Amino acid sequence: MSLQHAQPISRLIQELSRLPGIGEKTASRLALHILRSSRENAESLSRAILEVKEKIRLCSRCFNLADQDLCRICQDTKRNQEMVCVVSGPEDLMALERSGGYQGLYHVLHGVLSPLEGIGPQDLRLEELLSRLRGGKIQEVILATNPSVEGEATAQYVSQVIKPLGVRVTRIARGVPMGGDLQYIDQVTLTKSLENRGPI
Ligand SMILES: [Zn+2]
Repeated sequence: MSLQHAQPISRLIQELSRLPGIGEKTASRLALHILRSSRENAESLSRAILEVKEKIRLCSRCFNLADQDLCRICQDTKRNQEMVCVVSGPEDLMALERSGGYQGLYHVLHGVLSPLEGIGPQDLRLEELLSRLRGGKIQEVILATNPSVEGEATAQYVSQVIKPLGVRVTRIARGVPMGGDLQYIDQVTLTKSLENRGPI
């Protein structure tokens, strides 16, 4: 850490550079921006940071991020209640929502199967997905894990455990690049990959 800054500025730069994608140069620019902004703006930023830690929890149905028992998507009765899109994390759900091409519900697994990292089926929100499906209302499950090795393996595994329940299981189409990351894919490709989904 450079020594030319006053200690509180160094500390802010250090904290900001811990954020993903933020190098020391960007962190310095952000720190100076915060320093020059009004006290209200700085307070509003620090309150927003604390508030996500205090108020955000997981939706009791789909495990999306929520500020109440059910997330906004599960509360929305206009959405298609018979379709569930399975994603590995909230960032992928956000990407699909930004695409605007999907009107069903979600289920967030909070991870993918990874034998190398010791992540097995019991570490994902899989049992909760199965009990949702046993409720009988859901007609189709779309598997939208990343087209990576772990994402594919997870989709295969989930489809195997779902199929005996008699629910239609589909996988998003290979319109998305192999080894890609859903949250960085453009909206058109994401929408197309949902439209062109196929049986698994
Ligand atoms: Zn939910």
